[in-house]
Amino acid sequence: MALLELKDINVSYGNVQALWDVNLKIDEGKIVALLGANGAGKTTLLNTITGALKPTSGEVLFKGERIDGLNPNRIIERGISYLLEGSRLFPDMTIQENLEMGAYHRKFWSGRKQDIERMYALFPILEERKKQLAKTMSGGERQMLAMARALMSNPALCLFDELSYGLSPKMAKAVFNTVKQLHAEGITVFLVEQNVRQTLEIADYAYVIENGRIVMECEGCTMLENDYIRQAYLGI
Ligand code: ATP
Repeated sequence: MALLELKDINVSYGNVQALWDVNLKIDEGKIVALLGANGAGKTTLLNTITGALKPTSGEVLFKGERIDGLNPNRIIERGISYLLEGSRLFPDMTIQENLEMGAYHRKFWSGRKQDIERMYALFPILEERKKQLAKTMSGGERQMLAMARALMSNPALCLFDELSYGLSPKMAKAVFNTVKQLHAEGITVFLVEQNVRQTLEIADYAYVIENGRIVMECEGCTMLENDYIRQAYLGI
């Protein structure tokens, strides 16, 4: 059984249909990627998983149970955490305080000390700087803190939207290395990215979405060799 499964999902904004019969599976312990151009439907798909949008038809199953239609807080409680594009840190708070904010949900508050220790073990740089204000960190470090904050609730599945957006190539590489490390720790990751090459290098499995439809799916390394993907997404 897949950890998360989307079955025949259709989503519309009024009369505008944004997702068409989307089927997608995320197996436990894997890195699964979703690639697509601007406006392809990536954010709509993520928002359907998090409960921010309700599908007009189809099912979202998490650990075999339907979660479509649940309110976003209930979905977080079930074990899905996310770092969505534009989600912000608190710049005038320290690293440690920002991590504590990741446990704001009452279900996770009592375990926050152990959760912070777990994050410091995963991201030693955050422990070294725990008293530093978030605003004084580099872009790549801030992204790591944001990832750690999303992982505070010890989720079964983490959704990362455009992790590498706006980062220098060196920082983007560090962020992708961190995702690899999370994978090695057994964390299941769903990556939504425009940085196609680096994403496919680390993804176990990948989907391509165009005009609201999944048009291709296969193992990440296989997709990297695909002529259409190379031309349309890598420009080679
Ligand atoms: P980007 O990478 O630019 O964020 P995306 O792949 O995430 O793009 P979506 O934001 O999911 O794409 O948009 C998918 C389609 O749905 C687009 O055609 C978009 O214009 C449309 N759309 C998105 N949000 C709304 C909305 N609130 N109302 C109407 N149409 C919308």
